[in-house]
This record gives sequence, structure tokens and C-alpha cells, in this order.
Amino acid sequence: MIEKTMEFKTELSQLLHLITHSLYSHREVFLRELISNACDAIDKIRFEALTDETLLEGDKDWKITLSVNKEAKTLTVSDNGIGMDEESIVRNLGTIAHSGTKAFLARLQESGATNNPELIGQFGVGFYSSFMVADKVTVESRMHGKEAVCWSSEGTGSFTVSEGSRAVRGTSVTLHLKEDAAEYLEEYRLKSLVRKFSDFLEHPVVLLSRKKDKESGEENETEDVLNTRKAIWLRSKGDITTEEYNEFYKHISHDFNDPAEVIHYNAEGAIEFKALLFIPGKKPFDLLMGGDMKAHLNLYVQRVFISNEFENLLPTYLRFVKGVVDAADLPLNVSREILQENPQLDKIRRNLTGRILKTLAEMKLQSLDKYRNFYAEFGSILKEGLQNDFENREKIADLLLFETTATKPGEMRTLADVVESMKEGQDEIITLAAEHRGIAENSPFLEGFKADGREVVFFLDPIDEFVMPQLGEYKGKKFKAANKGDLDDSDKLKEEKKKFEGFLGFVKEKLSGISEVRLSTRLKESPACLVGDEYSMSPHIEAMMRRMGQPVPDAERVLELNPAHPAVAAVQSMYEADKENPKLGESVELLRDLAHIAEGSKVENPAAFATRIAELMARDLRAK
Ligand code: ADP
Repeated sequence: MIEKTMEFKTELSQLLHLITHSLYSHREVFLRELISNACDAIDKIRFEALTDETLLEGDKDWKITLSVNKEAKTLTVSDNGIGMDEESIVRNLGTIAHSGTKAFLARLQESGATNNPELIGQFGVGFYSSFMVADKVTVESRMHGKEAVCWSSEGTGSFTVSEGSRAVRGTSVTLHLKEDAAEYLEEYRLKSLVRKFSDFLEHPVVLLSRKKDKESGEENETEDVLNTRKAIWLRSKGDITTEEYNEFYKHISHDFNDPAEVIHYNAEGAIEFKALLFIPGKKPFDLLMGGDMKAHLNLYVQRVFISNEFENLLPTYLRFVKGVVDAADLPLNVSREILQENPQLDKIRRNLTGRILKTLAEMKLQSLDKYRNFYAEFGSILKEGLQNDFENREKIADLLLFETTATKPGEMRTLADVVESMKEGQDEIITLAAEHRGIAENSPFLEGFKADGREVVFFLDPIDEFVMPQLGEYKGKKFKAANKGDLDDSDKLKEEKKKFEGFLGFVKEKLSGISEVRLSTRLKESPACLVGDEYSMSPHIEAMMRRMGQPVPDAERVLELNPAHPAVAAVQSMYEADKENPKLGESVELLRDLAHIAEGSKVENPAAFATRIAELMARDLRAK
């Protein structure tokens, strides 16, 4: 094999630069990342070998080995796991799996990532964290039945791939430590790091050291097992410290931050399994970018790792949950595909889902502030459950939080609170979808509700309009959008209607794209608004979908006019006095434009609108 030099993908070069410069004070985590990778590689080969024993030829004494060469200033992390061939080493270590890396980097730059290790930590820097402590990294690897391969890089733009020298299956990562990283050549330092980061790993992490025999003067190689190797989820809760839970979480999630909540329990009875689940404190990178829609729990069967790809183990709307499930009686020696079909997995999923929702409900009850933090990170994802999990819809609805006309901006309350503070006889939960709180609050649609003191729930998250209709009602109260559908007529309005009949017809004729023009009961202060039908999307959602290139049907809307508003009354009198008045058409268009502006939409012709307003101003001011 000829040595090849290849360029890292551009994003990766940028990322490497960022990692090496911004995570400096956290750089010891490189060891956790390398040991995690080694451990995953062992789990992979062990799982494959369940159905193909020939893969185990040679080495199956699973272990992760650390060795130090003080003269050469190198630290090597070695495993006898699945290994990589040329193709996979280029793919895994030269490109980057995460599709949203570019967008992520832009965000990092925006927020000044150099002082923001949490943010870059969310990305899960993995293998590349090696470059925080090494100025050169060499990876020797070999896969079963393939040729050995060697990858090497100085972490600056390129890497080389050449013929490897590894004789047996597995991978060795050798770090040529930087001058200021000599501490990682010291045994005591490595020992304490392994204990801190990797104590619970099932496979032994051993430290190879050469010691001179005092009497004979001969050099002997000794192996020191550094970790106690007790799978943390098998231990009893009372014996596990928060720190141990946190480290385990970081090991499986590659998150730098501590989890917000730990759920650790044994299920007994119809189905037996042990679960150790974590609710992250911060949205990890893959969710931040909206990329990975699947839930990934690590499934073990009696301590043997099976897969983290079983989609039916957790519903997608709980995909932010990380953790381990260890099942007692699933068959071990069948293929992944067959195991995936096993009906027990459905039972486990139901049980896990119930437990997670219950934990969230308790968190909301016991520590609302903590729950609010959770909700800010993962609320939008949780809401998807309204659409996908019929069985638990009510429970999910109990967990929702919204801003309303009764909360301060940025504060939220539950639907139960809203229902509880309703006046007697109110049988609808009034909602208003808007792009942000400012627009919602000043919306003309609120005027009528404000006047009679009814609370309006704001749908400020774009997903609300898609998922909330699935709920239909809450505690017997139907949802009713403030800006959609007709409202009840009062007797007074009936009289006005007669008076305005001819005028309304005229307005309809003048304007295109309007399905109907009618008098409004929802307006108190504003002259006009546009209303959709019961099932239409709100204008800001339509605009958002257009921006994303989604097809949006051209829905005609209803123009509602407020007969009590002096501007509307004036135009109407003008119409009654002289139906040919040239100012009429212009005034009617202005009313429609005002309705657009008030709901936060764009007017059709902004320049013409601005000109008209300027003219009106001039006229008004001259008159004074
Ligand atoms: P992550 O572990 O989050 O996927 P890394 O950058 O740490 O990201 O590793 C990228 C990929 O390289 C891994 O997903 C794995 O396929 C491969 N890899 C890394 N280390 C090893 C190893 N010791 N043995 C086999 N494959 C490895």
C-alpha cells in the first residue's frame, strides 16, 4: 500500500482548531474519549461474534491497555476490539459523521466558543480531543480478515494513511504528547483519571509498566487493572455517588455537562430489566441541529452489549433521554434483526415511557424551576408525543407549559393552571399563535378577550400549531384559536350588520384574495384584522414554511372590520355619501394593509403603503 496524504474536510479542520484552543482546561477528557471508543470497539466485535464465532480467532481476552514510553513521550491506548480497515479509518477519522457541523460551527463562532466549553462539549468531540494533548497522533488498526492500516496526523489540515504494522485485530492510538502535557506520562495521573472516568466499564483498563526487579536487575512487564469494573446499573442506588452517575452519563453521551436527572430502577414482574436513564441538562449537538430523529438507548442482555440502534426501545419524542437498559430474558444468540422483532421490546418501551413521563411530572411538581429548564431545552421535542403517542397524550398534555396573557413575558404556566382560573361557564381554552410574545400581546385578536378578562394561551413555538390540534381538548375544554373561525354575534352587531351590508360588499369587490368581509366582535381598538378558517395555518407559520421551501396552499382569509372604530365608520360614511369617491378604493386597501401589519405580516406593497401613510401624515399635520 502506498502512503497517501489526504485533507481533512474543511469543517473538521476548523473544528480541530476550535477544540484544541477552547477546551484547554478540560483537556484530560481525551482519555475518557479514547477509552470509550476502545470499549465500544470491543462491544461491537463481541456482539458480532455472538452469531459468527470465527471472528474471535486469536484474541478474546477483552481489555483496554494503556502504555507509556517516557523517552519517546508517547501514551498509547490500545484495544482488541473490532478494528478498522483503510476505508473505515478514512471515513471515521477523516470526515465527520455529523451533518450539521457547518451550522454548529457558525453558532459557536457567534457565541464566542473560546469561552464556552459547554457548547463545544455538546458536540461530542470524541477522538479529536486527542489533539488537545498531542501534537501528533498515530492510529494502528486491523480488522478481522483485512490488512493492517496506519493513520497519522498532526491535527492541522491533513492526515496520512499507509500500511500498518498491527499483527492482530484491534486498534492502538498513540499520542505524541505536547511538551506541556507530560503529566499524562505519569502512572498516578493515569490511574486517577481512569478511576474517575472509566471505573464502571465492563472491560478491564490495564496499565502496562516495566519495572526493574531490584534483585536481579531484570526488566519485567506488569499489568495493573485500574478499574473496579462493576457495571453501574447493576449496583444498588444507595451505593452510587452523584459523581459516579455523572461520569457514566458522560461516558455514554459524550456530553461535557452533568445530566439534569437520573432515573435508575429495576423492573420486575411480567418483564424484567434494569434501566439507568439520564435526562441531559442541555440539548446535545445532534438534537440542537435537529438531525438525529431516533432514540438511542444502549441495550444490554445480561451485561452483554447488543446495540444502541433499536428504534422501538424508546419513542422518538423521548429521544433526548440517554441510558442503558439491561434485559434479563431476551435471547442472546440471534441476529439484531430478529431481536428487534421481539415483543418484549414493546413492553420495555411502554414501561420506560411511563417511568420517564412520571419522573417529569414529579420534577414539575417538586421543582418547577428545574422543570422549566428542562422544558426550555426539550419541550418542543416532548410535544411531538401528542402526535405520536395516543396512549400517553393526556400525560404529555399535563407536562406542557405556555406563556399566556396571565404570565409575564418569558414565564410559563400549565394548561391545568389555565383551566383552573377560568370563569364559570367558559368551555374553551382560547389560543393565539404568533411568532413571538410582543406580536401576540399586541395582536388585535386579543382585544375582545382582554376586554372581558378571558385568558389567552400563546402558541409561540412553531410546532404548537401542528401538534396541539391533535389534543383537541384538555380537561373537557376545547381549544379555540382567537384568530380563526367566527365568533358569536351580539344583538348590537346584528343591527350594525344591516347598516354595513352594502359597504361590506363593496370592500369585498375592491380587494382580491379575501374570501369574505364581515363585521368583527373580536376587535375593540383596532380597525381591522384578517381571520383564517378553523383549520388554517397562522400567517407566520405559512411564512416560515415558504422560507423552508414547503408548498403552502393559497388560503383566502376573511377581513373583519370593527364598526366601532372611527376610521372604519368614516370610510363607511364616505361610501354612503358618494359611492364614486376616488379616495374610497385607496382607503379600503389601507384598512387591509393595517390588518396585515397588526398581525406581524408584510403588506403586499410596502412602498405604496409608506407613501400613503406619509400623505396622510402631511394632511393631518397641515390641518393643525
Ligand atoms: P464517536 O465515538 O462519537 O462516534 P469519534 O470521533 O470518537 O466519534 O470516533 C469516530 C469513529 O471512529 C467511531 O464512531 C468509530 O467508528 C471509529 N473508532 C474510533 N476509535 C475506534 C477504535 N478504538 N476502534 C474501532 N473504531 C474506532
